[in-house]
Amino acid sequence: MIVDRQGRRFRNLRISLTSACNYACTYCVPNGKRLVAAQDELSAEAMARGVAYLIEAAGIERLRITGGEPLVSPKLEAFMTAVGQMGLQDISLTTNGQLLAKKLPLLVNAGIRRLNVSLDTLDASAFRGIARGGDLATVLDGMNEASAAGMKIKVNMVPLRGQNLDQVMPLLDYCLERGYELRFIELMRMGHLANDSNAFLQQFVSLQQLLSLIGERYEYLQADAPVDATAVRYEIPGQGYFGVIANESVPFCRTCSRLRLSSTGWLHGCLSSSNRHYIGDLLDKPRHQALPALQGLLVKALGDKQEVAFSGGATVMKIIGG
Ligand code: SAM
Repeated sequence: MIVDRQGRRFRNLRISLTSACNYACTYCVPNGKRLVAAQDELSAEAMARGVAYLIEAAGIERLRITGGEPLVSPKLEAFMTAVGQMGLQDISLTTNGQLLAKKLPLLVNAGIRRLNVSLDTLDASAFRGIARGGDLATVLDGMNEASAAGMKIKVNMVPLRGQNLDQVMPLLDYCLERGYELRFIELMRMGHLANDSNAFLQQFVSLQQLLSLIGERYEYLQADAPVDATAVRYEIPGQGYFGVIANESVPFCRTCSRLRLSSTGWLHGCLSSSNRHYIGDLLDKPRHQALPALQGLLVKALGDKQEVAFSGGATVMKIIGG
């Protein structure tokens, strides 16, 4: 097993199945263009082989399928079928929910039981302004159906000053009522925001600001979370839970166990590092040739992790998978 001097190792793999996305969220891409799949994206088979090799070489235990938008990818079914047979402890998926109702039977059949659905507002007009694509009612219906089918749902919201701060309490209530766990994600200095401090600071909402807003209505207690969790988790007794992924306020780099693989075959050991390592060419090779080379690249990827704090990076989240 590859372990660094802080005792960190890769346990959690995030796969960006495609960079294509049917949204163009303002904080993710600057120009409003919805991304199409890259020309050189790996096939479902190659990506699944990548997962198998990374289980062996890095000790990956849990997989999250993300994007881009994973539900727009024609590779989804073949990929899920292949990784479903690899004995992973957990396979989950992050989606914007636009195609959730449509793809639900596929997800259920593939054994997916946990979903993260990104939803920044319950206001249809603000929704169009932030996501620049999609339809709010379709997402809400999709979550409803998924929940009725037994899926455990977490909702990801990026609070943005001037755009959806008025939605923190409505979204929290909406989630508490339905047994969804709301995860606030502090805005990250990724992509265009890495080079535009003004835009970042104008929109950024901190953990403390969120807690004081929530504290006006609810009493909450800090709740348990796994040691390598990214979220600080809270319980509102008798009502449910919420969490905050506080990249800026409570950096979690010291215990980070995440590894990312892009749809074009690049390994990223850290969101905050511009380093990436190409493994696409190894995925056609037999195991005995691929694994030693992969191990060398994993050592480099682990070395890319920040020691303490996340400082941002130029990579667009759609490429790397959030
Ligand atoms: N399309 C899927 C979705 O919408 O969830 C998966 C990909 S998306 C890049 C994954 C997550 O990254 C979303 O929850 C999104 O809100 C978040 N995200 C993207 N850019 C971000 C940024 N600059 N700061 C914080 N979160 C960001």
